Amino acid sequence: MTDFFATAKDLLPETVELRRKLHRNPEVGNDIPITRGLVLEALEGLPLELNLHETTSGIAAVLRGGKPGPTVLLRGDMDGLPMPEDTGLEFASEHENRMHACGHDLHTSMLVGAAKLLSSMQDEIPGTVVFMFQPGEEGHAGAKFMLEEGLLETTGEKPTGGFAIHVSTWFPSGLVSLRPGPALASADEVRIVVTGRGGHASSPFLSLDPIPIAAEIVLAVQTAITRRIDVFDPGVITFGSIQAGTTNNVIPEQAALIGTIRAFSPETRAELHAILERVATNVAAAHTAEATVHIEPGYPVTINDRDFTAMVSATAEELFGGEMVEEMESPIMGAEDWSYVMNEVPGAMAFLGSCPPDLEPGNSPGNHSNLVVFDEDSMATGIALYAAVAFKHLGS
Ligand SMILES: [Zn+2]
Ligand SMILES: [Zn+2]
Repeated sequence: MTDFFATAKDLLPETVELRRKLHRNPEVGNDIPITRGLVLEALEGLPLELNLHETTSGIAAVLRGGKPGPTVLLRGDMDGLPMPEDTGLEFASEHENRMHACGHDLHTSMLVGAAKLLSSMQDEIPGTVVFMFQPGEEGHAGAKFMLEEGLLETTGEKPTGGFAIHVSTWFPSGLVSLRPGPALASADEVRIVVTGRGGHASSPFLSLDPIPIAAEIVLAVQTAITRRIDVFDPGVITFGSIQAGTTNNVIPEQAALIGTIRAFSPETRAELHAILERVATNVAAAHTAEATVHIEPGYPVTINDRDFTAMVSATAEELFGGEMVEEMESPIMGAEDWSYVMNEVPGAMAFLGSCPPDLEPGNSPGNHSNLVVFDEDSMATGIALYAAVAFKHLGS
């Protein structure tokens, strides 16, 4: 059998080169033509069928193995974030307010590396591999658009497994970390508007001040969460923005609260929605005001399939040794649009430690920091893992 890790290490220099090109040119959202161009250039000459999506810059590249078998899906997201980069790296972003701060440039490059590795052993592959190059993970639901455009029908046969990797500086470089069951949270947005009556700030009894009511809603929601939500199936609501008023001596008519809702199960997610509706409208009613609650559903919970996760762990242990694989103690409250694929296909997302060796994992700038630096050597682990997991799944 191919030595996946050794071959991946051989691919590292060209993978680093691609990663740095992507890093200099981050693009945000679902329309990312420069990135798509760089990926297509890197895939040139490989025996792949390229399906260029039309609603987004997504690419579904297909490798048909030399032996019959099922279809497996490997995913790398390609988008950056709308934020400045302050790393001072020689290959830092050349675009103001755009940065590859979540490491998706590493994911894309690793997936290209895996496409090269698997292409080199095409004859031995018992089935078909779909490489999903996805835009718009950072809040733009790129995965959902690719699904709607027929991602799972690309080869005519629905994939029987799916695998994604996310780099993180929370873990030492090269450590593979994953868990069965919920891996990442659902993320919905809530907007509450409290409507009272405006007036002179000196005489609140002549108007209906929405600001204390909004404040009470913030606190009452936190209390309700501690009393109504199962502590073993947790949920979080954070109001990141409160907007009301213009000056010191005017009572405004309205106050708005904007927040995020996180959960690890559909049950807790639904209960959090119910708490918001019930608490906001009833606290407002207690003060003769009105509150409207609008919830914008976002990414669902990312749930790792038990059998698939066990296979990924066993594969990683075989490739890198038991000390380089660990089971995550708890899920992460962040969210991922990979969850849309996981709702359709059994599979997993693994975290790949990418903290540079001279920094302390978890205590150095993390994903989404303007200062985050990832260890590029970890990409050899990522390439090998993508390729070996696909091969194992098809052969099982
Ligand atoms: Zn991110
Ligand atoms: Zn990310």
